[in-house]
Amino acid sequence: MKNENSGCVGYCRQCGCEHHLPGAPARRACLDLMVILKQENRIDFTIPAGLADPRYSTDYLEGPARGKMFGVMIARTASGETQVLRAFSGQYNGSWQVPGWVGPVFEPAEFYHLHDPRERAIKELGRQMEENDKGTPRYQPLAAQRKEKSRQLMKMIHGLYRLKNFCSQEAGLQEIFFQGKGIPTGTGDCCAPKLLQHAVLNDLRPLGLAEFYWGRQNSSGSRQHGRFYPSCRSKCYPLLGFMLCGLQGIENG
Ligand SMILES: [Zn+2]
Ligand SMILES: [Zn+2]
Repeated sequence: MKNENSGCVGYCRQCGCEHHLPGAPARRACLDLMVILKQENRIDFTIPAGLADPRYSTDYLEGPARGKMFGVMIARTASGETQVLRAFSGQYNGSWQVPGWVGPVFEPAEFYHLHDPRERAIKELGRQMEENDKGTPRYQPLAAQRKEKSRQLMKMIHGLYRLKNFCSQEAGLQEIFFQGKGIPTGTGDCCAPKLLQHAVLNDLRPLGLAEFYWGRQNSSGSRQHGRFYPSCRSKCYPLLGFMLCGLQGIENG
């Protein structure tokens, strides 16, 4: 079941070329995962049904939040065993970590520590804005304050993303994205960067990585239930160029 239209690709500025990771070796495992999702109707299927967390039901993917990208990576351990690793894009119903799935590229505890109190302050400003009409003198300063706090928070969150590659290098989002260009929302939260970061940190050699969409289709219809998609252009193309750097050397060596 070969499909050229899957797998990972990114442009590496250091090498001046694209780096690839094929999707084909991971497609079988993706299809297996789809069967499990359909049967179990939950994503925490590695734990007994009696202990299932209702937040992790796949009903969530049919709701207003719509479906999500899921990814599977086939990798080889240092001792030569094959591993199958799974990731979902972004958070699942508010969680970064779900049993049986690779977590985000950063330490979730650091995220919550940074995010939660600031997010509360931003919400409080929003509440105060609602109490004041747009024309009143109090409204504008509140709006400006909220905007500034949101901007600062986004910058701090971006700072948590320290991406690693197969050349033992590490870089932040600002360094990877071309200077002056904005970093799209959700950059670093796709399945591919999560899985590749996990591979580097755990001394795994990725052999293939494929991503598919599961759940209610997105509003534009560009993502459809059960279909495979290549790594995304806007967020992952620059990131994966950096993250896949050095992998080819391992393969040949
Ligand atoms: Zn992506
Ligand atoms: Zn490179």
